[in-house]
Amino acid sequence: SEDSRLLTVEGLHATYNHSITALHGVTLSLARGEIVALLGANGAGKTTTLKAVSNLLPAERGQILAGSVRFEGRDVTRDAPASLVRRGLVQVLEGRHCFKSLTVEENLVSGGLGRSGSRSEIARDLEKVYAHFPRLKEKRRVLSGLTSGGEQQMTAIGRALLSRPRLLVLDEPSMGLAPLVVQDIFRTLKRLNREEGLSILVAEQNSAVALTYADRAVILENGVSVLSGSAADLKARDDVKAFYLGQK
Ligand code: ATP
Repeated sequence: SEDSRLLTVEGLHATYNHSITALHGVTLSLARGEIVALLGANGAGKTTTLKAVSNLLPAERGQILAGSVRFEGRDVTRDAPASLVRRGLVQVLEGRHCFKSLTVEENLVSGGLGRSGSRSEIARDLEKVYAHFPRLKEKRRVLSGLTSGGEQQMTAIGRALLSRPRLLVLDEPSMGLAPLVVQDIFRTLKRLNREEGLSILVAEQNSAVALTYADRAVILENGVSVLSGSAADLKARDDVKAFYLGQK
């Protein structure tokens, strides 16, 4: 039913600078506990869709022209980004944003500052992040700017976890990372999903990896969602194999 949906995006149309129409009909939904992948070529509209979900388009002179975003049954299309974070809709932006002049641990803790958690709660969440990302525990006193790309991506994810997401939204976590590191990150996301029930919406150009770990996927082409289904069904389709998995 509609109520079991954690996130529903319906008929989204969006534009930048009143000129280029970036999205003209994006529909997707995610049930509690699911991992949903948003797939598509460079420029298909994945980032714009995720920014619309967190109401981050106005910051880039973009706007939603039509359509809606519902989170936990409420229309949040026009809610302030910070209030969405407080409500549990937390996004890790493209490009593994962390503060390079802060240590890994300071970056992680900064994710817990927006919520009203006590010190001991934040310490407990920090230990949980370290359990999922042992690499971050080893590097906790190192400045983030001196850690590897993979470690910076893990730090960005860990920081998001400190703000206690009910839905974690990730934009292209594989970007610029070696295949083994990408596997490591996706395996950890899957474990967070299984063990903590974390719901995840992840945009990826690496369709092969995304379809390995996601329950369902939605494919965007030129700003329109053209196909959606279970990851297993999509992986078996000839057109998906040819265009998104590089198989003949
Ligand atoms: P990528 O993998 O490159 O991030 P994407 O699927 O995420 O691709 P978007 O970044 O959402 O695609 O881009 C969708 C369309 O919107 C493209 O035509 C792009 O040129 C345009 N666009 C994206 N960001 C902006 C912006 N800040 N200002 C103007 N146009 C933009």
